[in-house]
Amino acid sequence: MVNAESAVLSVKDLKVVFSGFKALKGVDLDVGTNEIVTIIGPNGAGKSTLLDAIVGKSPVASGNVYYKGQDITNKSSYHIARMGIGRKFQNPNVYNELSVFDNLLLALKGTHGVFASIKAKLTAAKKEKIISVLDRIGLLEKGYSKVSSLSHGQKQWVEIGMVLAQDPAVVLLDEPTAGMTPDETYATGEIIKTIAIDHSVVVIEHDMEFVKQIAQRIVVLHQGEKLTEGSVGEVQSNPKVIEVYLGREQIDAA
Ligand code: ADP
Ligand code: MG
Repeated sequence: MVNAESAVLSVKDLKVVFSGFKALKGVDLDVGTNEIVTIIGPNGAGKSTLLDAIVGKSPVASGNVYYKGQDITNKSSYHIARMGIGRKFQNPNVYNELSVFDNLLLALKGTHGVFASIKAKLTAAKKEKIISVLDRIGLLEKGYSKVSSLSHGQKQWVEIGMVLAQDPAVVLLDEPTAGMTPDETYATGEIIKTIAIDHSVVVIEHDMEFVKQIAQRIVVLHQGEKLTEGSVGEVQSNPKVIEVYLGREQIDAA
């Protein structure tokens, strides 16, 4: 079990309030080194809000977020990203008319601005880094293809690659398989497992087959609170979880 002392990312009694509405009512979460934590929960549970609060996109009303022991609560999202927490959002945010390679080049740590980075000298170190990211996201052969020519799933992998290019210690992925084919979904699971060799990963996901493929520890959120956490088996047999999901397709299929 990860505890707050050994955690890379540690969330303590986190509360987020949107004009009186309590979206998070005191959530705790510890993420260990190179661990995959999967967050599940019905729509509106507060999953995206939790990631938003961690990266400084939603204001924290009370509680704390610690990264490697440092309190980063309510720091700017720019600052948090620079420190080492990378976040992939639900909507693609890629440059369609640029190649996959150039998109990754733009995302490299320490790169500023489209023109500056494309004109800047491509050092061997940068090239090597981009190639290693391409390899991780399974797009080595597509490096010089325009992003516009890729499938929906491949575009999502480019986005994951852009997060990796920033050299984060923690990677946060919000529904990374949304809209993907079953094959793409499976490939995404394998990509995430590879990422977790040397990153901590937090994944929000609905698809229980996918959760089973990647999951080490699952956290269940419901109405802004942590319902339970544990292995796939523990979570699936938990009466509170069954009640929350009763009649829902995701858990029926599981
Ligand atoms: P999930 O990702 O688990 O589906 P969210 O974190 O997106 O849920 O949302 C949790 C709750 O907070 C929902 O009721 C949602 O409507 C509300 N919420 C999320 N973001 C905002 C916001 N910016 N302003 C007001 N309410 C919000
Ligand atoms: Mg969400």
